[in-house]
Amino acid sequence: MTASRSAREKKAAVEAGPLARVKIDVARDKSFVYKISCATCTAKGDRPWSAYRPGADNGFMAAMDRWIFHLTEKHKDSDAPCLAYLPEAQQRLQERREQH
Ligand SMILES: [Zn+2]
Repeated sequence: MTASRSAREKKAAVEAGPLARVKIDVARDKSFVYKISCATCTAKGDRPWSAYRPGADNGFMAAMDRWIFHLTEKHKDSDAPCLAYLPEAQQRLQERREQH
């Protein structure tokens, strides 16, 4: 479990690019919790901007989608590999909106 978690963490960190700080926690029920925070932006109360999503692959995608939107909003010059997934992230956002 630990090895696969750190492997996932490394892979996610590469995709998220140099501005991201990726951390995967393990919840009480042994599921993963994905946290991507920004190295330069702060949110409320001087805490780093971050996306936090529980769940296996769904959680990973949800956290990464939020990160991709953060990059496109705040760091337009970024060349993070995950920006290649922007069209898919927008598609998923659209689908989520249509469900509500
Ligand atoms: Zn940022």
